[in-house]
Amino acid sequence: MLSFDNSFVRELPADPDATNRRRQVHNACYSYVAPTPVTAPRLIAYSREVADLCDLEVDDVGMHELAEVFAGNKAWPGMDAYAACYGGHQFGAWAGQLGDGRAIGLGEVVNRRGERWELQLKGAGPTPYSRTADGRAVLRSSIREFLCSEAMHHLGVPTTRALSLVTTGEQVVRDMFYDGNARSEPGAVVCRVSPSFIRFGNFEIFAARDELDVLKTLADYTIRVHFPELGDPCPDVYLRWLAEISRRTAIMIAHWMRVGFVHGVMNTDNMSVLGLTIDYGPYGWLDNYDAGWTPNTTDASGRRYRFGHQPNIAMWNLVRFANAIYPLIGETEPIESALKAYPQTFERAYREMMANKLGLGSFRHDEDDALIADLFAVLQATETDMTIFYRRLANIEPAEIAAQTDDQRIAPLLDAYYSPAELDEEVKKRIGGWLCSYAARLMTDDLAMTERRAKMNRANPKYVLRNYLAQLAIDKAETGEPTMVDELLEVMRRPYDEQPEHERYAEKRPDWARTRPGCSALSCSS
Ligand code: AMP
Ligand code: MG
Repeated sequence: MLSFDNSFVRELPADPDATNRRRQVHNACYSYVAPTPVTAPRLIAYSREVADLCDLEVDDVGMHELAEVFAGNKAWPGMDAYAACYGGHQFGAWAGQLGDGRAIGLGEVVNRRGERWELQLKGAGPTPYSRTADGRAVLRSSIREFLCSEAMHHLGVPTTRALSLVTTGEQVVRDMFYDGNARSEPGAVVCRVSPSFIRFGNFEIFAARDELDVLKTLADYTIRVHFPELGDPCPDVYLRWLAEISRRTAIMIAHWMRVGFVHGVMNTDNMSVLGLTIDYGPYGWLDNYDAGWTPNTTDASGRRYRFGHQPNIAMWNLVRFANAIYPLIGETEPIESALKAYPQTFERAYREMMANKLGLGSFRHDEDDALIADLFAVLQATETDMTIFYRRLANIEPAEIAAQTDDQRIAPLLDAYYSPAELDEEVKKRIGGWLCSYAARLMTDDLAMTERRAKMNRANPKYVLRNYLAQLAIDKAETGEPTMVDELLEVMRRPYDEQPEHERYAEKRPDWARTRPGCSALSCSS
């Protein structure tokens, strides 16, 4: 049996009302609320790695029991179900109370190694924070969250995890593009797992309401339980904490930029204070490299959360968080200097990351900044698959480039191009020109060829959770055939390995997926 130690509900103030009636909740970090049972729960996928983290012996427990518990129909001893109260800035504006509208925490497992892993059901029914919505989640978005959580982990990106994916046997009505075309879709529940799900918005709500006692209680709790290395909470420690959150956020964003991940809804209620990727909604992966791309149709007009803007948005969000904890510190200047940990870490991490992607022994400031700026221009000169391009770049023979024609130079990369017809002389000249500069740069580097390749292949995944692949898995699952979820999970367990038997999952987006909903465009409706 799992061993629970539910510190969040034990140490923080609770809402006295334990019903799921929608309401504003004051002076409390959470409300007790039970999941709403479903008619026919069925476990369709689980992550054995996450089961291991929780000391969960899947075979002993059995599939039926797992489905019951992780759909919310049954609780194990030691579980305490609750929904957290938080607020947030959505698309740049303060949105007031949001909270766990369809997420229900079950408790915190402490495993044999002493690690704390909180379990949380997403889609388990209404809570006081559900506002006008139903507290449920559809299968398509649940598959996307389940697979992407695990894919990101295996790619080495800090993220919350996913233990299980259960279908409910019930239908949920959604208007996918908010255009009056509502339809019934199968419902599902994902069990997410993370040391904690505390977000920037958990602090913002108490600052906005001037509930400063609760703000302090929550900050002290978070530091004691999740940042004990920083010492006992006091103004200096709050500052170190802010710097640490800034640092972790910078590392997370550098990873997103490395693998071509676009979160899609970087509202402050979707930012983890642990620096983990959280809340997989209308996210997407770059197929062709385009810094201006966002998959989220809800953000189509301003494209606030486009790929290339993510580093700036993370900083904007950190400033919102810093404002929220300002009352605990009371001085502006040291807060500003703690926040500098973000740009400082990001610049360092980003350069190191680019050096790894390009196979450079170390980053040389002026020279390599220019090389990288030129690279991004070349990647956008014609539709170029980001993942394939970087992966194939490791096959370039730098000693031979100078003597080659542009066609010969580009040959190892050809698979990365979406529109061979666009590869006219002009474009080939630009790509060839960049490859010459790159090769010249490599020739002055001290890394041996085999080392360089190995370094690049550790930074440039062969496999990412391409939008169209997730959509194919969804299409099949919606017809009652969920096996592709497991197949994709299996491939994504080793994203840096060649896996010749899975070559088809490394192919670039097929033409039919260019404009298909779910493959190129998603909304927040989930
Ligand atoms: P998101 O944009 O997914 O981060 O969600 C923003 C807010 O809306 C959060 O408070 C969610 O809990 C809430 N929310 C989203 N979908 C639902 C739903 N189907 N039922 C209840 N609350 C929801
Ligand atoms: Mg959210």
